[in-house]
Amino acid sequence: MSTSDKSTLIIHHPYTPPEDFLAPQPGIYKASTVFFPTVAAMRSREWKDKTAYTYGLHGTPTTYVLEERLCTLEGGLQCLLVPSGLAAISLVDLSLLTHGDDIFIPDNAYSPNKALAEVELKGWGVTHQVYDPMNPEDLARRIGPRTRVVWLEAAGSMTLEFPDVCELVRICRQANNGRGVVSVLDNTWGAGLAFNPFDLNGDTSLSVDISIHALTKYPSGGGDVLMGSVITRNHALHTRLKLTHMRLGLGVGANDAELLLRSLPNLTLRYTAHDRAARTLANWCLGRSEFAQVLHPALPNSPGHAHWSALCGTELGRAAGLFSVVFDPCYSQSQVDAFCNALHLFKLGYSWGGPISLVSPCDLASARQTWPTHVAAGCLVRFSVGLEQVEDLQADLAQALDQCIKSA
Ligand SMILES: *Cc1c(COP(=O)(O)O)cnc(C)c1O
Repeated sequence: MSTSDKSTLIIHHPYTPPEDFLAPQPGIYKASTVFFPTVAAMRSREWKDKTAYTYGLHGTPTTYVLEERLCTLEGGLQCLLVPSGLAAISLVDLSLLTHGDDIFIPDNAYSPNKALAEVELKGWGVTHQVYDPMNPEDLARRIGPRTRVVWLEAAGSMTLEFPDVCELVRICRQANNGRGVVSVLDNTWGAGLAFNPFDLNGDTSLSVDISIHALTKYPSGGGDVLMGSVITRNHALHTRLKLTHMRLGLGVGANDAELLLRSLPNLTLRYTAHDRAARTLANWCLGRSEFAQVLHPALPNSPGHAHWSALCGTELGRAAGLFSVVFDPCYSQSQVDAFCNALHLFKLGYSWGGPISLVSPCDLASARQTWPTHVAAGCLVRFSVGLEQVEDLQADLAQALDQCIKSA
């Protein structure tokens, strides 16, 4: 090219750095446009698999690498990345459902999952039913020929009861005279570490069909990234999801993917540390008279503890760093609010999985169709335990409880 214009020379610069740059983290590639060497290559480029690159939305080396690592984490074979955990939920629903279909959502599901069904899905002629996840027969009895999808969550949002996931998946498999319905697990709590969603019983014969994950939580670990994944072990199902993913124009930014790649190597260490601290605090709460109930699936008296043990292992099994308490009914909502306000290290906020501990009062009555019989009456508060020193967190809870009693 014969030009002496500096702009042109800088934009079309001939230099390429040497290959084989080996370093701890993979390279970060950014693109909307991807170049093709010839028109023929452009016309024949296959975007549906990962053999090449077509356009930024369809993947870059950075997102391919992240997808493969997430497949390994969850035991899947194919992965799609989306801009949030909630986008992973909506992608599944939008891809698999059409007018006249029916879906099941557990009453303890992440609330926006139900909200999507109540408004958008309903508007498009897709009906939904709420089932009691602690009573698999409730699901078995009501699954019908219009049922396409059953959502699963373990442990449940806010109340952390642990369902019999294996039994629920078996019911999905056997539904409609063995034709089955698609089982979709929201695996954010287990994070791919507490149990294997694609190998629930240890001999790979029992598996969910789809696992979605709010990477926003533990995989990010910083409280500063929003991302979600949709993982499968079935090529046809993945392709169906991928086509909808493409038509909806869902994608993630390279900088966010980079943060995830940076955080994944220490995911197990962090998850284990959150878990240990949460159990210490949950056990301490058991000894406090202010609480009518402490909800954490590893506590022997917590609802669904036996199912957690069976799926995740006994005391050595893993759990996320979340637990909830139900205050004795003698404490009013305003006293419980005062307790939450009095905490210093636990910040008031949604989400979880970052280094800073969080507290969130929960309005269970409005979030659930029915008040679960296994949850005591009283004001419910959920804690997400961060990575602070556990003695400091315990002291913070103690001083805030003191304040709460004083405000009586
Ligand atoms: C946070 C969360 C989501 C949604 O993730 P976002 O990235 O915040 O949209 C979905 N499911 C569960 C269980 C969650 O905790």
